[in-house]
Amino acid sequence: MITRSVQTVQTNPDDIIDIRQKIAGSWQEILSQAVTNPQELLDILGLDQALLPGAVVGSQQFQLQVPHTYIARIRKGDPNDPLLRQVLPIGEEMVITPGFSFDPLGEKPKNSHRGILHKYQGRLLLMPTQLCGVNCRFCFRRHFPYEENTLNREEWLSAFDYIRSDTSVTEVILSGGDPLALNDNRLAWVVEELAKIPHLRRLRIHTRFPVVIPQRITKELLNWLTGTRLQPVMVIHCNHPDEVDADVADAMKLLRDHGVQLLNQSALLKGVNDDADVLIELSERLFSCGVMPYYLHLLDKVQGAAHFEVDEQRARQIMSGMSDQCSGYLIPRLARENAGASGKVVIAPLYSLKI
Ligand code: SF4
Repeated sequence: MITRSVQTVQTNPDDIIDIRQKIAGSWQEILSQAVTNPQELLDILGLDQALLPGAVVGSQQFQLQVPHTYIARIRKGDPNDPLLRQVLPIGEEMVITPGFSFDPLGEKPKNSHRGILHKYQGRLLLMPTQLCGVNCRFCFRRHFPYEENTLNREEWLSAFDYIRSDTSVTEVILSGGDPLALNDNRLAWVVEELAKIPHLRRLRIHTRFPVVIPQRITKELLNWLTGTRLQPVMVIHCNHPDEVDADVADAMKLLRDHGVQLLNQSALLKGVNDDADVLIELSERLFSCGVMPYYLHLLDKVQGAAHFEVDEQRARQIMSGMSDQCSGYLIPRLARENAGASGKVVIAPLYSLKI
């Protein structure tokens, strides 16, 4: 009998970044090569040409944009793939639906200062860019006037002054667009300026980049994110377990190993994740990468996304199904945000939570 000695190779976690970038390219290259042409997406995925007219007309209102790193996780030839549904424009997006709005959260009145949304007590949103790693068809800001919120240097300084003048603000939330679409030099400067404001404690980043283009977790990003006195919290937006592949898991591990608190929020989407078993698997996979479930949002009622809506009764059934089968800490809080409200509303469970 032949016996082999097994050598354990210790890989420096930071080397994973280099290896990943060598294989897939830099995140900027991946982003610049994202598919924006509906015909190209259908061809890559071997999908029926009957989907083309809807994809073209939907993309005219809100452009298709999906990087190859995400397309690689979509099943070929399956028009009902849950990841595809999140990114492929369809004709129903053009249907005007009663009860849905172009500004579903009533954000315009809270956007009095350029680049800032101040709608919560004690915290505010800084929106540094209109760009995203992917354009999600259910996005509640698909009609948001980002062009009115792109900041030049003077406007950045003015935004910092605004935050400095309100000592009740302890947390700044970088939101979007997707804040990680900015380059690391700019983000490092922003965080440096924020850290000078004494009453700030935390920096929270809402982003879909680690899920869509995990190559975005660069050494430079880890440097500015963890080299500040502000406590870093990252809320990734992950909706389906198929989104969590090995690269995403590696990116999560790197962030965790560098001390970043990781949370997930999902949107509850018909035909994507409106199923207890799917959401349990999502929580399991994320937890195994060090990400805690945080919120499960009912759809924000934005025009163009009505076909994703799951009603509250069905949402409660799903939550109940999750509660029957998994530990309480794996269950996100079911929440909704009402237009003009000062925060999200957690929908009280009608089931007994097993912890
Ligand atoms: S990444 Fe976020 S902000 Fe960007 S399109 Fe998707 S949901 Fe909207």
